[in-house]
Amino acid sequence: MSHFQVYSSTMGTVNSTLISVGEQGVIVIDTQAGEDGGREVLQQIAGREVLFVFNTHEHSDHTGGNGLFGCRIISSTAARTAMLQSGMTKGLPNCHFTQRLHMHILGEEVHMQHVGGHSPGSAIMYLPERRLLLAGDLVFNGRVPWMGQADFSRWIATLTELSTWDVEIVVPGHGPVGGKEILVEQRKMLERYVADVQAWRQADRSEEEMVQLAAVSYDVKPAWHNMLRLAIKQVS
Ligand SMILES: [Zn+2]
Repeated sequence: MSHFQVYSSTMGTVNSTLISVGEQGVIVIDTQAGEDGGREVLQQIAGREVLFVFNTHEHSDHTGGNGLFGCRIISSTAARTAMLQSGMTKGLPNCHFTQRLHMHILGEEVHMQHVGGHSPGSAIMYLPERRLLLAGDLVFNGRVPWMGQADFSRWIATLTELSTWDVEIVVPGHGPVGGKEILVEQRKMLERYVADVQAWRQADRSEEEMVQLAAVSYDVKPAWHNMLRLAIKQVS
């Protein structure tokens, strides 16, 4: 029997994860974009008790269904601050941590840690007994990640650190579940992006040229070209 389930709603590509704990409990990680997505997650719960919701970070595609959950909603303090600043009013986290939070719930050890990198509030969840890591948007498996707020050195350092942990299964924020190799692949891709932008700058490429070059090299659809533009600005 599978002890966890990853659900991506019809609203987008975000992974919501449901982890079964004890007889009837479930931890919900991320609530999809908008209440319709959140409703789909609720349907997956099928009568079990939601022990708490964890938001891996502040981006609205991961928090849109929060308002449907009348339970404890946990995030990093930085993520909650960013949600408030974005004007979010429904389903704000009602429990938050600055660095780490360790919970013992129904005999299960659950660690949460603020790491940043992808966004100021990005955090991970780790269940050591299950060797299960929920990486949130630190990992997009199989596609270019959203890098518009990237702190590249922090992001790369975190992926390096996480790949030394005792982990078997990695759930990314988007894309299929994998093992530690998806941490390594994401790190390499980010390192390559930083090196490419630095090389293009050295070659005096204009910002627009860099966006076009990146779009081709990283197979990025037009709707995300502005993300590439923002990501170029984040490279020092
Ligand atoms: Zn995100």
